[in-house]
Amino acid sequence: MTDWPLYFELLSQWLVECDQDHECHQKAEFYPTRLIFVGDSDPNKLRLVEQASLLLALVKGAGQMDYLALSHCWGRPTTDEKKRYCTTPENIRKRRKGFTFEDLPKTFQDAVQVTRKLGKRFLWIDSLCIIQEEEGKSDWKRESKLMEQVFSSAYCTIAATSAVSWKEGFLERKSTIQSVQVQDVSGNRIHVCNNVDNFNDDVEDGNLNKRGWVLQERVLSRRIIHFTKRHTYWECGEGVRCENFTRMATPPGKQYFLLDPKFPDRLTRSGYYRTVQFLQYLFQQYARCGLSLSLDREIAISGLMERMKRVFQTEQKHGVFARYLAGLLLWRRSEESTTGGVFEDQPSWSWMRYTAIEFERVPHDILVADDATLRFSAEEKALVVKFRSFQNCTVEHGTGAVLIAESRIMGTWWFETTLDPKLKQNVVVVGVEVQKRRDLDKTCWVLVTQKSSEDQYRRVGIGKIEARYISEEGHEGRLL
Ligand SMILES: [Zn+2]
Repeated sequence: MTDWPLYFELLSQWLVECDQDHECHQKAEFYPTRLIFVGDSDPNKLRLVEQASLLLALVKGAGQMDYLALSHCWGRPTTDEKKRYCTTPENIRKRRKGFTFEDLPKTFQDAVQVTRKLGKRFLWIDSLCIIQEEEGKSDWKRESKLMEQVFSSAYCTIAATSAVSWKEGFLERKSTIQSVQVQDVSGNRIHVCNNVDNFNDDVEDGNLNKRGWVLQERVLSRRIIHFTKRHTYWECGEGVRCENFTRMATPPGKQYFLLDPKFPDRLTRSGYYRTVQFLQYLFQQYARCGLSLSLDREIAISGLMERMKRVFQTEQKHGVFARYLAGLLLWRRSEESTTGGVFEDQPSWSWMRYTAIEFERVPHDILVADDATLRFSAEEKALVVKFRSFQNCTVEHGTGAVLIAESRIMGTWWFETTLDPKLKQNVVVVGVEVQKRRDLDKTCWVLVTQKSSEDQYRRVGIGKIEARYISEEGHEGRLL
């Protein structure tokens, strides 16, 4: 059994400590279009409030207007459940006047409880604050572009990690917490979690983090309370804490960047190659997230991409930043994804095209192709590239693979589609190893392209090969 007063006292303590001692939180200068007011004297009464009335109340000095944001799994609500629980064009007027606690599914009820216990009066939940089931999805289209501000301006994010659907709830935990009592140096008894580092299992590999939309919700949030099956965790710019009083030092690397409350400040200070490595990790994670709709593939991460684009001061298209072009073009389709999960509307050069990809680790000493031979085109889905030919070798079309032979296999290759012997293959150099002295010995990281029957060049794979096998000359063209 959880000792609720003590439990919520601890959560409040985490917030207070962070408010007072850290620089994680900033006073909100943005308010979402709609919020749920949970601070009525009648605990059963809730109300949907619009931004205009919020701002008016703020001017009138209505006290603190902090809001909490819920990050959660939708599960698979039925049409009836959506109609009943979501805000729709039919019920929005009524909801502005007021609705009841019982009108909400368990997960949302728990979020209301947490908001109240933490002394706050406003809560943001996507399915209630964005109009759902609307023809043309106009509200959704407008609101989904505001996710960056919604999560980064929230006082704190509630991550309903253990709830696989709206009906689950996340406050009641079935398993008992395993902890041991030990004495500290002054003889006080303290609890210590005896399975200390479960953050990876509970949060990183948790169900919630497999949902596409959650990646940006997590990265953009300044502070998060993760409600998992086993433990409750606090995450802010200064590190991760477990309810059992264990404190995890901010680990170096990926987590350090993810915890950054001003993401991607820490990343930009880390240098070019660490940034490339982190972006590769981030997109690899994201590519695997279960997004079924092609439209969602770009939108569910658009808030995060916008933020990074602004800070990196570079162009972004289909998940690829101009400034980190080489590293972000060198992906390959994972074995596990070869049986499906193709997003046909994504260009052939974008990692967003497949559900599972792995990036090639780009060494520190490669010289990336310059703007003159590799850049974004003004045309939405095109890259301007220099197509070169294979030379001093022949392309052999084997069973599902291709060999570049000179009586032996040259280079290392990964192909996402089978090559057609009737079509011409070219190479696009994206990076060259600088260490070796002789130019011909240098390893080149390349995209392999194929000119299709519609006279279009498309990427079919990537590879590494010595410069002697690639022609110096080439022609400029569009890769789609
Ligand atoms: Zn903090």
